[in-house]
Amino acid sequence: MQWRKQDYQKLILDKSICEVYTEDEANFLREHYIRVVLSRESVIYEDSFETPLGEKFYSKTKLTPFFDDRGECTHILAIVQDTTEKKRAELEIKEYWNQLSEGRQRYRSLFHHNPDAIFSLDLEGHIVDGNIAVESITGYSIQELIDSKITSLVSQTDIDVTQKHFQKAIKGNFATYRMGILHKTGERVEVMLKFTPILVNKEVVGVYGILKDVTEFEKVTKKYKESEKRERIIAENAQDLIMLLDDKGLIIYASPSHEKVSPLKVEEYIGKFFFHNVHPQDRDQFFYTISHSIKTGEAWKLQMKIKHQTKGWVWFEMHGTPVFNDEDGLFQHMVCISRDIQLQKEYESKLKHLAFHDPLTGLPNRRSISEQLSKALNEIETKGSFAVMLLDIDKFKDINDNLGHDIGDMVIVEFGKRLKNQIRDIDSVARLGGDEFIILLRNIDSEDEVIPLVEGIQNAIHEPWNINGLKLNVTSSLGAVINPRIGTTEKKLFKHADLALYEAKEDGRDTYSIKPLND
Ligand code: GH3
Ligand code: MG
Repeated sequence: MQWRKQDYQKLILDKSICEVYTEDEANFLREHYIRVVLSRESVIYEDSFETPLGEKFYSKTKLTPFFDDRGECTHILAIVQDTTEKKRAELEIKEYWNQLSEGRQRYRSLFHHNPDAIFSLDLEGHIVDGNIAVESITGYSIQELIDSKITSLVSQTDIDVTQKHFQKAIKGNFATYRMGILHKTGERVEVMLKFTPILVNKEVVGVYGILKDVTEFEKVTKKYKESEKRERIIAENAQDLIMLLDDKGLIIYASPSHEKVSPLKVEEYIGKFFFHNVHPQDRDQFFYTISHSIKTGEAWKLQMKIKHQTKGWVWFEMHGTPVFNDEDGLFQHMVCISRDIQLQKEYESKLKHLAFHDPLTGLPNRRSISEQLSKALNEIETKGSFAVMLLDIDKFKDINDNLGHDIGDMVIVEFGKRLKNQIRDIDSVARLGGDEFIILLRNIDSEDEVIPLVEGIQNAIHEPWNINGLKLNVTSSLGAVINPRIGTTEKKLFKHADLALYEAKEDGRDTYSIKPLND
């Protein structure tokens, strides 16, 4: 309903305040009117009211008393001024200020509680202010830093670049760059630094320096790089077996290459004990090596046989590196990289075989028998005495000369075979060179024991010879020594055996001579 002025006047005329206003409003007005009467002075008050539609109006009322001749207050003149517009403007300004203040607070909060250290610098680079993070990143309280130059915090090598960026920021150009600052403890802290000009009325009045501690970031990057490196090593060593063991010796990683060795899937390795597929003879050494490495932090290398799904026991060389935690130094895991060295082992054993065997007959050579003789001499006390026989083919040069070197070779090979077949399991035969052979007969104490063996050998040589379709007559002479004593030298053995052989040759060949070592 639209109120008209006349209606309103009719409604309120001749009525008291209490009749027109609500109780609260009436009390408010009466208070002011009473003050005017009592003080006999004008009173100004502000008021507001809301229309039934919710619109708020503001007013300013001046109450002025009127007096009669006797000085009695007879009327009060109320002049009401509509201050709605003015009031609204005031309220808007207040609201604006509130917002501004909130904005300031927000800004202060952003500044003070920012996790990055923020410095306010003057145009010479002196520190004017700083936030809480300054202390946590630099170790200095802001009070300690005020008035000092920002460059006093910068590590020596980064001072020039810092000054350059600072000057650029003053000119309005800014960029973030990596550098190091010196912590109060003297340690270098890796940071990202950004200088930003402080502009007031479009004029540069200072510079903000924002420092971000990137030590953690560096650590993560380093770890990432390490893991990247690890991945690369794995990729490069795809043929090798790579395994990680935890502190209980359980496998926590096995590279895919394991599937070429074992029927197990890579996942099935996880949780298995580290030596589950290692030859039982190699396990103790493996265990000892790992324990020692964890204690000392030393890397290790070990050769061991590992069960192969098709090839049986295969030689592997394993390299181990213990990895310890950066923070607490505790053992984390053992990186084990193993490589199949079966071919290398076979080659080595071939070389070893060559070093101790005669290539023509495949029999042990002089070096091998020499070791066995020396061992037998040292063991006389515990394992008893022995005999040594030297054999030399009679007139072998004639075979070579008449039938050729190849036939001569075949005779040497056949001669060696006959000796090997004739001796007992406990004896050893070797080719000393040319047409000369040696037999070590163990557990021989007397001539009686050696004679049957000597004759057995002679008989074997007397068996018919058929070399390459040629019937040959091959004989040999034999000199033996028996009864070596504790302290007898190898040289003496050879000397006496040689003498015995010489005697047999002198005796017309195809015979033997036995010499006891009595002296
Ligand atoms: P003796 O009855 O005195 O032993 O006469 P011999 O002709 O057998 O003389 P000797 O044992 O000294 O000769 C050995 C010969 O064996 C000399 C050498 O030419 C020959 N010879 C040495 N090594 C080899 C070899 O590897 N193959 C062949 N076919 N002959 C060899
Ligand atoms: Mg000979």
